[in-house]
Amino acid sequence: MATDPVSPILAPGPSEFDAHIVRVLRHRIGKNERAAKMHDWYNASIYALRDAIIDRWIESTHRTYESGAKRVYYLSMEFLIGRLLRDALSNMGMTREMDEALRAHGLDLAEIEELEPDAALGNGGLGRLAACFMESLATLDIPAYGYGIRYVNGMFRQRIKDGWQVELPETWLAHGNPWEFDRMECSYRIGFGGEVLARDDDVVWKPAEEVEASAVDTPVVGWRGKRVNTLRLWTASPLDPIRLDAFNAGDHFGALEEQVRADSLVRVLYPADGTPAGQELRLRQEYFFTAASIQDIVRRHVQYADDIRTLPDKAAIQLNDTHPSVAVAELMRLFIDEHGLELNEAWELCKKTVSYTNHTLLPEALESWPLPLFERLLPRHMQIIYAINSRILREARKAGCDDARISAISLIDESGERRVRMANLAFVGAHSVNGVAALHTELMKKTVFADLHHLYPQRINNKTNGVTPRRWLHQCNPGLTRVIREAIGDAFLDDAEKLADLNALADDGALGERVAEVKRANKVALADHIKQTMNIRLDPDALFDVQIKRIHEYKRQLLNLIETVALYDQIRSHPERDWVPRVKIFGGKAAPTYHNAKLVIKLANDIARRVNSDPSVGGLLKVVFVPNYNVSLAERIIPAADLSEQISTAGMEASGTGNMKLALNGALTIGTLDGANIEIRDRVGDENIVIFGLTAEQVAEKRANGYDPREVVESSLELGQALSAIASGVFSPDDPNRYAELIGGIHDHDWFMCAADFDSYAAAQRAVDTRWEDQAGWRAAAIRNIANVGWFSSDRTIAEYARDIWNVR
Ligand SMILES: *Cc1c(COP(=O)(O)O)cnc(C)c1O
Repeated sequence: MATDPVSPILAPGPSEFDAHIVRVLRHRIGKNERAAKMHDWYNASIYALRDAIIDRWIESTHRTYESGAKRVYYLSMEFLIGRLLRDALSNMGMTREMDEALRAHGLDLAEIEELEPDAALGNGGLGRLAACFMESLATLDIPAYGYGIRYVNGMFRQRIKDGWQVELPETWLAHGNPWEFDRMECSYRIGFGGEVLARDDDVVWKPAEEVEASAVDTPVVGWRGKRVNTLRLWTASPLDPIRLDAFNAGDHFGALEEQVRADSLVRVLYPADGTPAGQELRLRQEYFFTAASIQDIVRRHVQYADDIRTLPDKAAIQLNDTHPSVAVAELMRLFIDEHGLELNEAWELCKKTVSYTNHTLLPEALESWPLPLFERLLPRHMQIIYAINSRILREARKAGCDDARISAISLIDESGERRVRMANLAFVGAHSVNGVAALHTELMKKTVFADLHHLYPQRINNKTNGVTPRRWLHQCNPGLTRVIREAIGDAFLDDAEKLADLNALADDGALGERVAEVKRANKVALADHIKQTMNIRLDPDALFDVQIKRIHEYKRQLLNLIETVALYDQIRSHPERDWVPRVKIFGGKAAPTYHNAKLVIKLANDIARRVNSDPSVGGLLKVVFVPNYNVSLAERIIPAADLSEQISTAGMEASGTGNMKLALNGALTIGTLDGANIEIRDRVGDENIVIFGLTAEQVAEKRANGYDPREVVESSLELGQALSAIASGVFSPDDPNRYAELIGGIHDHDWFMCAADFDSYAAAQRAVDTRWEDQAGWRAAAIRNIANVGWFSSDRTIAEYARDIWNVR
């Protein structure tokens, strides 16, 4: 990684930069070159680079103030940003300077990069999307702030012990964080509980508790360093750090209770919410970061515009899923209680300012809070929600909605224990509600939001997700980037859709050779990494078949594993056939309380142990479960993938973005007609993707009419044998019943259609084998994938949000 995809644009000369690093080492870290350890060089490198970034940052902020431009505010519970050094160097065009400066001291940039912890402030696609969006916003020169929580431990670190997932705290801040800037002066009091008092005409909320939210800023550099935006993460501290009287009376722990309470707010992402205390903590976290962000946005506005009524002209607030949807009530509270607006006017301003992105149709993922909890924690917000609700229900009645529709639209779920519906709140409080892929958006209209869509037919729109080509092509795959530049020039570096120029060269054998050489080198690098970290030897000439994503039943890692077992059987029964050597690579975390997902991880590891040590498969099949899947691991695996597994039960994956990253790096997709797979197929063409399985409509039909998986299992010999082998303990001789229930679920109801899709999936896999035998054809298809997925750049997605939702330039 010694070169930029582009030549330097604003860097000082190498020797000058080198001198700067040494100055930083001396004056900021307090060491000279002789005393400096690797970690000191790492910090000095980032501080030195940061100095160049800061100049751009201040300049960007100044430009926004001068022009009075509208700002975009992206509120998200997650920002899965990963490492920043390579990204910032590349976007600033300073990779070569850094490389040369470090080399002058006998240091290797690649080694320095490995010292950076992976900022795991997210769980999966939703958090990574937020990170890609931040980079694209800066690239498109749109003034923007990301708002979230500065989790001290973030998402857990996954270890695999005896094949089981074990969760450990992620200590990414253990050595400090050279990227962040404490903005102690930027702080807000966030209240919880207490009572609402009516005084004269005014309403006053007297919270029972308060914590202080203070800002910690990280600069986000856009491509070619055009603009630097701010990721503002909130940290919590008590108003009273210690109760000295209690401490001196001997109650040393009790005296620090407030500190602990504040701490727990910013400790981990998604604390388990199986207990009432866990639920309450989740709601507190959501309100904490949302309220701090909304107060910051409103403060910034009134500081420069004297009229709160112009907020929608200067601010666009995007809610990334429902986690920040209490923003609607908080913004209304500020309008009414702090700025004296009437409800009607406040409501119109709120809707003009706010917009909401839905990320899932899974009913269990649609947030709602027990009403008593919500009312106790946020009594004033509860009143506001009631006021909004009666307004909405009046509108619904006027529009002729029947009782069933009215109760579906209501912000309060009255069907059992009363609950506050956060998705409905976000929907009614926003002028735009978007899905993240075409199919998902259509299903939103027909399912979860059918009734709200009926009442507000203009509100739902689609914005198909994207990924930043900087991180997911230029930085993670410099070899491929070089080959593409040599083939079609540099235009694609600034406009990913220019990758289409590769189409004309797809059948050019010479380009195919060069793309294949790069792919092989990436596979060798991944194989080396896996040999070093897991002591498993992989053949880089085998087909690398990759399924990397959170472990969830709807994503169907289990379908892949069942097919793996079937293939294993086949290879052993017919050793004489010409099998295509395969490496099955799995990676992903399971939610700590999700029993079946954790069992799937164990199954992958059980199958891996058995298959990898069976001499009778002669190395034709290897199975690897790579622990602790995160952004950095994705950056290693994706450039080395031949086949991308996107096999969710149709209708259940909102979009997927892993599918885009893999296609962009020349992997062929095997997938269902789900999420963005459909749009990928539309662009790369039917011949360059392998589609199988039921459609979303067929899945819905089967579920509605009752379907008998037993019949399917009986009719498929291969499936039946694979299921029996797993259920009877062939892969778990130490506990033969381990998978009986998991496999029993397939026989009983097969909710995720593993049995229903098996034959079609297995046939598709054999078709993949046949394609692989024709290497020239495979390479041409890989090139056509790279050429036609430039549209899935998050630059395109952000440009659409800017034009259709935010109304910014
Ligand atoms: C892209 C990405 C995801 C999302 O993957 P999907 O296949 O779309 O679910 C999750 N985690 C990480 C680390 C990623 O980079």
